[in-house]
Amino acid sequence: MRDNSAGPRVLLRRLREVMAVPSGAQERLDQIARHIAANVVAEVCSVYILRADGLLELYATEGLNPSAVHQTSLAVNEGLVGLIAAEARPLNLPNAQAHPSFAYRPETGEEVYHSFLGVPILRVGRTLGVLVVQNKAHRTYSEDEVEALQTTAMVIAEMLAAGELEAISNVGARLDLTRPLHLEGVALCDGVGLGHAILHEPRVVVTNLIAENTQDELGRLASAVESMRLSLDHMLAHGDAAAQAGEYREVLEAYRMFAYDRGWIRKIEEAIRNGLTAEAAVEKVQSDNRARMLRQTDPYLRERLHDFDDLANRLLRELMGRPHGPNGQELPTDAVIVARNMGAAELLDYDRDSIRGLVLEEGSPTSHVSIVARALGIATVGLVSDIVSLVEAGDAVIVDGETGQVHLRPPSDVENAYAEKVRFRARRQAQYRRLRNKPSVTKDGKPVTLQLNAGLLVDLPHMDESGATGIGLFRTELQFMIASTFPRMKEQMRFYSTVLDAAGDRPVTFRSLDIGGDKVLPYLRSIQEENPAMGWRAIRLGLDRPGLLRPQLRALLSAAGGRELRLMFPMVSDVSEFREAKAMVEREINHLRRHERPVPDTIKLGVMIEVPSLLFQLEELFAAVDFASVGSNDLFQFFTAVDRGNTRVADRFDTLNVAFLRALKMIVERAKVSNVPVGLCGELAGRPLEAMALLALGFETISMSPSAVGPVKSMVHGLDVGRLREQLLARLEPGQPDAGSVRALLRAFASENNVLL
Ligand code: PEP
Ligand code: MG
Repeated sequence: MRDNSAGPRVLLRRLREVMAVPSGAQERLDQIARHIAANVVAEVCSVYILRADGLLELYATEGLNPSAVHQTSLAVNEGLVGLIAAEARPLNLPNAQAHPSFAYRPETGEEVYHSFLGVPILRVGRTLGVLVVQNKAHRTYSEDEVEALQTTAMVIAEMLAAGELEAISNVGARLDLTRPLHLEGVALCDGVGLGHAILHEPRVVVTNLIAENTQDELGRLASAVESMRLSLDHMLAHGDAAAQAGEYREVLEAYRMFAYDRGWIRKIEEAIRNGLTAEAAVEKVQSDNRARMLRQTDPYLRERLHDFDDLANRLLRELMGRPHGPNGQELPTDAVIVARNMGAAELLDYDRDSIRGLVLEEGSPTSHVSIVARALGIATVGLVSDIVSLVEAGDAVIVDGETGQVHLRPPSDVENAYAEKVRFRARRQAQYRRLRNKPSVTKDGKPVTLQLNAGLLVDLPHMDESGATGIGLFRTELQFMIASTFPRMKEQMRFYSTVLDAAGDRPVTFRSLDIGGDKVLPYLRSIQEENPAMGWRAIRLGLDRPGLLRPQLRALLSAAGGRELRLMFPMVSDVSEFREAKAMVEREINHLRRHERPVPDTIKLGVMIEVPSLLFQLEELFAAVDFASVGSNDLFQFFTAVDRGNTRVADRFDTLNVAFLRALKMIVERAKVSNVPVGLCGELAGRPLEAMALLALGFETISMSPSAVGPVKSMVHGLDVGRLREQLLARLEPGQPDAGSVRALLRAFASENNVLL
């Protein structure tokens, strides 16, 4: 009986020799084809490479007519080669001509070959070409032969990624790997960024593919798996994750489960036994998984395959002794960060001056990473499918945070068009800057107060730059999120003083700590919860743990000594919670007075309206507070039962839906009756169309991210708010057949009345 594994083993040795000797790309590819044919005992071996125009070009052959090289090409899905490329799966056929997809190319002379084995050339799950062997006799190729061919395909994929094969195409065509791609996502932060990709989780580049000693490699794998499992166990038992609840912990639990998955490890071991190094084996299995993932339409299964993908990266890092995370990466001065997702604090770790844009596979408009991106003015697009697999570090990328488009490796005409767009936007920004000192008054003479949402020191210069007349929401927890330990009372006080100094005589509304939910402090342990967004967070945590809230209140009161302090509490769901918080403030004032420390001249205490239960206590609420601000991000989430961070449901309801606007209208009307100022500080306020609706409902103060102030002010100047109010209120009257959204009405009004959006 023939030993089917001897040939493949020799082939891998030969491949190692071929790769070790410096030579031209065509020569190397020809040698590879020759060695495959010799060692898989095939009469034909051919290499097809996918070009940017979607054709698979014959790049090398042993056995077919040599003059067909760089002349013959097949479309993806055409013939067996095209089928392999389309499905990213091997095809092993004893009688190829009987297969319905068989397509005959006379110039190649392949009519006499019956058996056929083809494998895709894959890189991070993408098909870049196809490698084929053929025999005249009817035979089924062995498992070992399939594996050997797949390993060789990996070697060719590395040659492609290194750019070796681009130059040798006769027609000078571009390869698919470097093909420009136009991807659509969701605009998360306005702005246009041109730059070069950096992967938030850098891909480990495996250069040593073929093993010298299989037993050694199996040993290396075993110890890497062991230490990866230990580190995951440790992470779940101690570290941040121990304190985490909900989704994040579930993801880690799933990781741990997969890390113990025998099937996965067995596949990697098998690839090592077939001649790969441990890291090449992990990469091979990862690549196969990615290819499956890209074909997968079921979101749940995709998610699970994503977990394996992340886990494989972790294992690769263990094998190659690289730390996990983005640390230590060289950042180009025009970096576009590409990530599956990231936390707000992780984004803050990067040097802002070097970032031109951010592209996420996940992300939603009101997730905290988006809010921080907006605070930093980084053009951001989210929900871009498979971006992490499609991009290579260093690729040119254009991020259009206005339309939600991403251009990967853009051709020069697209790049020129965008350079023009950047110039146009710069001119528009200059116009907005000119509006900076103009009063914010509507066309029909109604003054509107435009304020800033802020939370970090980087936000403070924006007050002058944008012309905002104060800070309507200062998210104090952001400073806590970027600290490595809990900020002490004195540090907090210094920080709040700096904020008030920068604001001068403009009002600043601080919000007490809003931690919990997705706002996690790395150094603070919290209990595990099923639904953290509706759990022990914000004011609830503050009241139950006065050790947390009290130092903050004292720091705020001291920082505002001799001036005004405006402070509001997040996630209040019952007026009694506000009363309790107010009592705490009063106790702190008494304490400071007793110790003859300065206290504020005036104190205004308010609440954020974020929980629907407050809508039914508005009278009592307005009797108790000095002011209120609608947190529309949370109010909308709880009003419609749509998780603000969950991309699958985030756009389920239009924020301009009639039911929600009726609720907002009720808030404004009740506040007017009680003579209590009420503003709105959710992301709604920063979008000109939505802001139009808010003004029409009667809001006179709205607070937004710095880059939104110019566009919103420009809208205000063109708006006859009285006329819009009439139309909008009529539309909000009960009794319509379908309440729906008022977006179309607002758009029509803006275009008919030349309101700039
Ligand atoms: C809100 O919920 O609308 C809000 C402004 O608060 P945050 O986005 O910080 O939860
Ligand atoms: Mg909120």
